Amino acid sequence: MSTAETPAATASATPAPTIPTQATSATPTTPAAERCPRCGAPVVPQEHFPTWCPSCEWNLLPPEPSLDSLPLRARRRAEREKRREEKRRQEVRDRTEQVFRLVAEGGSDLQHSASVGAFLLAGAVHLVSLAVLLTGVSLVVGWPLGGWPARVLGVIALAVAFLLRPRLGRPKRSGVLTREAAPTLYGLVDLVSAELGAPKVDSIVVTSAFNASFGTYGLRRHRQLEIGLPLWTVLTRQQRVAVLGHEIGHCVNGDVRRRVWTGSAVRALDEWYVLTYPARDNETSANLVVAIASAVTVLVLGALNLGVRALRRLMHRLHLRSGQAAEYRADLMSARLTSPRDARGALQATLSEGTLDAVLTRQRALPRAGGRAARAAGPMPGLWEALAEAARSVPPTEVERRVRLSEREVSATDVSHPPTYLRLRLLASAPPADRPTLVLDAGRNALIEAELAPSRSRVAAELL
Ligand SMILES: [Zn+2]
Ligand SMILES: [Zn+2]
Repeated sequence: MSTAETPAATASATPAPTIPTQATSATPTTPAAERCPRCGAPVVPQEHFPTWCPSCEWNLLPPEPSLDSLPLRARRRAEREKRREEKRRQEVRDRTEQVFRLVAEGGSDLQHSASVGAFLLAGAVHLVSLAVLLTGVSLVVGWPLGGWPARVLGVIALAVAFLLRPRLGRPKRSGVLTREAAPTLYGLVDLVSAELGAPKVDSIVVTSAFNASFGTYGLRRHRQLEIGLPLWTVLTRQQRVAVLGHEIGHCVNGDVRRRVWTGSAVRALDEWYVLTYPARDNETSANLVVAIASAVTVLVLGALNLGVRALRRLMHRLHLRSGQAAEYRADLMSARLTSPRDARGALQATLSEGTLDAVLTRQRALPRAGGRAARAAGPMPGLWEALAEAARSVPPTEVERRVRLSEREVSATDVSHPPTYLRLRLLASAPPADRPTLVLDAGRNALIEAELAPSRSRVAAELL
């Protein structure tokens, strides 16, 4: 169930309700309110969850171990490291919030200009790869120079060109659910695609990830949707549709990172980086010529590597802008398909990976009847029920704490996405839907559950 709390909830004297699905309660409930030791605002202790203060964010993060016991040098190093980490985080925060502001103001140029930039830069990268390939071929065939040294250089150039070749990836083969085995699930995904104007997916893979994703692979551009069963399990029916909406939205949100042209250029740049990384060996050669040659090589490679690093950074920035704008667009599609509330609920659920970890720890500790043999025969029943139950019992104040933590740490579901707190903020300002475009009714949901049953035992065995 999603909660009705806003991320910017200010100090409120309303204690957390005892029923997590009801976010409004005017009467004081147990447990009794305490006072925040920092600002004196009332805080509500929660069983199984950290007590924290929504007003001043006291105890938002678990207390860190003190550095005082460390020797002076180690302490200074740790403090330096901490400052550096905070600075890096602040830079990411500034950049991502800038993109967020532009998107929230409806800046579609942002996406356009960054995409054009990424496209041109990718073109330059591919031109270099092509030049290396052509040089290799011409040297090997003996033009314009003959002789074996030129041929050897040619072979080296061909090897480099091979490393720089565009890579298109491959769809996953294991965990694939076929159309025949899951007609209802495919039917639902096809409906989502039709609503968003996207082509149909070619395959669906069921995984053990606390996430869902979408990718296009290979020369044939195979469209593959990945559904992580743990995440799927903790979602309500409409939140499931919202997640599908976001993922299928990736087909039509103009995300340049996923296009062959720019995607393969990024991978080529990564290869350049590895190739030009100067290996510094500290051995001093007795031979002066060798020593000079090696020093020159290190210098040249170092300069090249600096250039490649700058290019990668530039590409990353361009991608950050266009890619994050595309992610926000996918979120808005998902909200239009269901409702902003469902889209937010689905996103908040992605913050609950810790709940899965806790359930897994408890399940692994349970004694199993039949021991090893039973374990081999299959997972014990109850993992999925326990996970759903644990997710339901997370109180709204804990959900709010996780959202604020995402803001403090600028954390995202994965590196390709904007920080979760910004995605939630954008959805909070999305126009409310009169009624959802697509409804997953209980009957179809039950059919899908039956289709997922074989995957459930496989994934549970993987997890436990
Ligand atoms: Zn406080
Ligand atoms: Zn996404």
